[in-house]
Amino acid sequence: MKNNRCSVRLLSLTLLASSAACVALHAGPPAKTHWLGHDRTRPLPPVVDPGTASTADKPGRAPSDAVVLFDGSDLSTWCAMDGKPTKWVNRDGALECVPGSGYIRTLQSFGACQLHLEFATPSPAHGNSQGRGNSGVFFGMGRYEVQVLDSYDNKTYADGSCGSVYNQYPPLVNVSRKPGEWQTYDMLWTPPKFAEDGSLRSAPRVTVFHNGVVIQNNVELFGQTGWLERAPFKAHAEKLPLALQDHGNPVRYRNIWMRELGTPSKPEFYLPDAVLDSYVGTYGRWKITRREGSLILTTDSGTAELFAQSPTHFFSKGVDIQAEFDAKAHTIRVSVGEDGGAIVKKE
Ligand code: MG
Repeated sequence: MKNNRCSVRLLSLTLLASSAACVALHAGPPAKTHWLGHDRTRPLPPVVDPGTASTADKPGRAPSDAVVLFDGSDLSTWCAMDGKPTKWVNRDGALECVPGSGYIRTLQSFGACQLHLEFATPSPAHGNSQGRGNSGVFFGMGRYEVQVLDSYDNKTYADGSCGSVYNQYPPLVNVSRKPGEWQTYDMLWTPPKFAEDGSLRSAPRVTVFHNGVVIQNNVELFGQTGWLERAPFKAHAEKLPLALQDHGNPVRYRNIWMRELGTPSKPEFYLPDAVLDSYVGTYGRWKITRREGSLILTTDSGTAELFAQSPTHFFSKGVDIQAEFDAKAHTIRVSVGEDGGAIVKKE
């Protein structure tokens, strides 16, 4: 897992260089799920260095198995929503929203996870209600918002307060610090699951600690975040990027890290629209089309969804299919199982 941080940064570099090397991974045998009490053959938990806590002046260090999304050094794990470079800035080691520049998102996609981040609203405070220190933490590529707001001595509607699941659940308490002071969010996110026909199988859930105090206790969301409406769910992939909101206020962030929960899996990335679009086409008997952040491989015998492991390498989660694109040569090599596949040119 230590490699996660490297792999995110590597992806950023390889996006710039338009080349990447990757390792094909294969699923192992199914994991054992039943154990005797005190079973001596049961694997011990992995050892993790817990890192350090932040102080008012200095951000802490992430746990050793976390994907570090911002540690003050650079913005290489972030981009604009369409995959272009972000216009937010790194100012004195803090990730600062530039009003009017748009939301930003991570390059990497995440499913169930633990998220830690710290934020500070502008000081001195400007504006009031929803116009003061507004930003937001969005799971699911901009679909589900946990509100970031200056709620220190700033009245607004309850389900828009700092720490609200916006338009759904107010925070249990208001533990906001003063403008300009660093505050912490620690969250547990469970994404929704959708059936093949797009119907909802299970709703997303979130737990939020604000400055160490629980303010959302495993609440079940009842739709996407909406404004002036109760927006319904719309089916999407289980893993999607994390986004931060530009709501016109220069809110700052620091010490952002993520730990994926559940069965370990290879990192997957949500490539820029332009890169995904460039792969669409017909390559002999292979046809490639787009889904939101993935590609669909179609042949005479069926379809498979392909997820990005690097800017050029894709994999299927259901069958051992690997696809390698060469953007300059306009080719694809599809390998299924042990079949290495041939290089096929786009028509
Ligand atoms: Mg907001």
